[in-house]
Amino acid sequence: MTATIEPSQAELLPSVRNFLSGTKRFLVGGQWVESASGATFETIDPANGQVLTTVARGGAEDVDRAVRAARTAFDEGPWSTMKPNERERLIWRVGDILSERAEEFGQLEALDNGKSAGIASAVDVAWSADIFRYFAGWATKIEGSTVNVSMPFVPGGQFHAYTLREPVGVCGLIVPWNFPLLMAAFKLAPALAAGNTVILKPAEQTPLTALLLGEVFEEAGFPPGVVNIVTGYGDAGAALSAHDHVDKIAFTGSTEVGKKIVDAARGNLKKVSLELGGKSANVVFADADFDAAVTGSLNAWLFNHGQCCVAGTRMFVEDSIFDDFTAAVAEAASQVKIGPGLDPTTQLGPLVSQEQFDKVTGYLAAGLADGARALTGGKRWGDTGFYVEPTVFVDVKPEFSIVEEEIFGPVVAALPFNAEEGVAKAANSSIYGLAAGIWTKDLSKAHLTARQLKAGSVWINQYNGFDTAMPFGGYKQSGWGRELGATAIDLYTQTKAVNIAL
Ligand code: NAP
Ligand code: MG
Repeated sequence: MTATIEPSQAELLPSVRNFLSGTKRFLVGGQWVESASGATFETIDPANGQVLTTVARGGAEDVDRAVRAARTAFDEGPWSTMKPNERERLIWRVGDILSERAEEFGQLEALDNGKSAGIASAVDVAWSADIFRYFAGWATKIEGSTVNVSMPFVPGGQFHAYTLREPVGVCGLIVPWNFPLLMAAFKLAPALAAGNTVILKPAEQTPLTALLLGEVFEEAGFPPGVVNIVTGYGDAGAALSAHDHVDKIAFTGSTEVGKKIVDAARGNLKKVSLELGGKSANVVFADADFDAAVTGSLNAWLFNHGQCCVAGTRMFVEDSIFDDFTAAVAEAASQVKIGPGLDPTTQLGPLVSQEQFDKVTGYLAAGLADGARALTGGKRWGDTGFYVEPTVFVDVKPEFSIVEEEIFGPVVAALPFNAEEGVAKAANSSIYGLAAGIWTKDLSKAHLTARQLKAGSVWINQYNGFDTAMPFGGYKQSGWGRELGATAIDLYTQTKAVNIAL
């Protein structure tokens, strides 16, 4: 393969070009503001390493202003006093505007993150729109219950007891760079549907679609202070996590930062939900549909350049088909078209940043030094941009860092298993438990294996089988709580028990 990389801004929409001009401000209390310190930072196009634009860098003082704005909008209204159907209409409108502006959002995401613009529009933006519409519907469907109490210590008493589901309050939403818009949607939509006000902190690598989304909230007619967005570095996230007037933090990112958030939340014991790292097992039985399993297993570890928390990066293959199967996956991986996100033929773009590129190429070197064999890939691609070749490692041992640790790049480790001995013990040996894949035509085997795997999501004869209505989250060190579906409403509400003596 040769590296011929076109300028990644060739086909930009005028609206995207316009958005990139000038320093970007962030949104606090309905105003687009500079940071209190006047500090800014640059966001980079990972396809060529060049600066896309400059963004205001918020710090603790900015976070405090945003929290106060959110506090006022929650405590004094109008958000908390608005009728559920009014909130529903506004949130639904966000979904519709996202659909209308999908190409624009897709391009901006491609530029900032490196992913394909077409995939970003079709997956990240389209799914975000679906999430806003799904949770818009929830705004009018959050219910308490009546409870038949016995109260044995009040003989003869009569009571009327019921529960109320109330919003948690001011929520800090901290998101990573791998799906910048989508991870924001995962949190914003249920938080707002349940009646909370929010401060969104996007990742420093990818602040742009969050800011464009801020414009969408304005266009949809959200009152000031309901949605605040502060761009900046980890110190802004840390200030948000430690803030005494924040009632809840919802976080997606690394397990390491997740633990810091738990520590920071101690001060006021704010509620915390976490969606963290993974090293997910993708299990291929010998009786699987071979071709479907090859394509699906490639998608499992390569989608989004492997920068997926759910990436199926430990590929367990039944020993009788191990050589043929891994050869077929490696062959398919070597055919993947690499290039910048704005090239419509691109299937695999650059990694998000120099830091991530260094981390992933470091793992490639470690794997080879440990004695693993790369059936394909094993090095960077081209000589500009943060591109890495899709890499299939065999001859690996469970204790290799490429098998144990989350790489977050286009790298898979393949391990054989024996059907008699079973696969569950090896698959469950990770500290993580986010997702798992199973490929087999045997229904009983599929369901029994699904029960054995310690993972929050199990996908059978597919991978990345997400839906807005299905709960999503991790076992073990992959997180706390379940986003999406009805369970997301639990994350953003608290229950009040009311009991009246009649
Ligand atoms: P990260 O450090 O966990 O960042 C995620 C978010 O947390 C970002 O908005 C980040 O802000 C913020 N943050 C950083 N330090 C914080 C702190 N002390 N308190 C509160 N918020 C803080 O993830 P990363 O550095 O971007 O990526 C590192 C590794 O994490 C990746 O290689 C990958 O293994 C994993 N990761 C996992 C997921 C996932 O979906 N589970 C997503 C992304 C990354 P800044 O960006 O400004 O630092
Ligand atoms: Mg960027």
